[in-house]
Amino acid sequence: MEDIFRFADEFGPVKIVHITQPSVGLKAIVVVDNIACGPAIGGVRMAPDVSVKECVRLARAMTFKNAAASLPHGGGKSVIFADPYMADDDKELLIRAYACAIGDIKDYIVGPDMGTNERCMAWVQDEIGRSVGLPLEIGGIPLDDIGATGFGVAIAAEVAQDFCDVELQGARVAIQGFGAVGKHAARFLSEKGCVLVAASDSKGTLVDESGINVQKLIDLKEAGKKVCDAPGGDKRDVDAIISVDCDIWIPAARPDVLNAVNAGDIRAKMVVQGANIPSTLEAERIMHERGILSIPDFIANAGGVICASVEYHGGTESVALGNIEEKLRRNTRQILEAASQRGQLPREAAMSFAVERVKRAMGLRRWS
Ligand code: NAD
Repeated sequence: MEDIFRFADEFGPVKIVHITQPSVGLKAIVVVDNIACGPAIGGVRMAPDVSVKECVRLARAMTFKNAAASLPHGGGKSVIFADPYMADDDKELLIRAYACAIGDIKDYIVGPDMGTNERCMAWVQDEIGRSVGLPLEIGGIPLDDIGATGFGVAIAAEVAQDFCDVELQGARVAIQGFGAVGKHAARFLSEKGCVLVAASDSKGTLVDESGINVQKLIDLKEAGKKVCDAPGGDKRDVDAIISVDCDIWIPAARPDVLNAVNAGDIRAKMVVQGANIPSTLEAERIMHERGILSIPDFIANAGGVICASVEYHGGTESVALGNIEEKLRRNTRQILEAASQRGQLPREAAMSFAVERVKRAMGLRRWS
């Protein structure tokens, strides 16, 4: 069998589509992983340095995330190989070309991801009428504005207090990546009594043990500045965030930032995975052996896709927030209880729960 099938296993992917449109310089990949539970929902990421393998892994993470959240959707993902900070007109052209190219992939519903946003989803909707994470003006629930994923991350952390030696009141939080997920996680956790002691972006790390003013840092980032432009605090390099002394560490940036080499440097008691696939399995094992409770990505960061699914099915913002709270509370408790009873990693407990649901759904379909 040819090497192109190297990614396939019993769950998928059902399709990997390579897209090029030379007239606008579009190069993209769409991965539809598994559609047993329903049409795939997953974001489109724009970055110059993504890979097909990364896209396949992200699509699989969506299959299990959507299944674990009991959504009527399978998992998919796509990537556009480009600089997300290009001029707006060029970006619009590229996204519209991408939308036209995926028009016939009807089992894939596009949402925003790193490098894309609600505006990009509006362009996709305008071209093919099939996207989620839309602006309010055209019927969307702006999930990054309301902080759907960060809201869910904070709920997961709240539940996880019962399973480790952390109390949210006064807990010191460090966040890698102060974007849509990271800033709202900081906001909701600070409302629950946590203190933000460190935050990073792609340019550096800001550390202030006396506490960072979350709203001022959000305002600064929204004004297009870097976290290290904030007055006060200690300015360090990008990777310094890994070893910051804290209680809760939240990855909210890129994949595989926690690996076998640096997992021993984490100085938190709880890790809540806001980003997708931020940790290798080996790193999770190392943290587990060190007594660090790590809540896997597809449980902790499901808030965004729960919100997207509510939007797709015609629900409102309050329904979305209610669903996120209910599902995140139930799922986090369920997997942490199972993990502690069975002596498993939280990811292993979460996987068996999600795999079981996908397999049951596959059993109900002729093709899945
Ligand atoms: P974003 O583009 O809004 O923010 C990403 C942030 O990470 C930016 O501040 C960027 O500067 C920073 N960053 C990039 N590389 C970094 C590095 N090496 N070190 C530190 N910071 C770095 O993206 P987002 O929507 O917040 O998504 C972040 C992660 O969360 C991604 O893995 C995404 O797939 C995942 N996620 C997002 C959502 C959502 O609702 N937006 C939902 C689930 C999962």
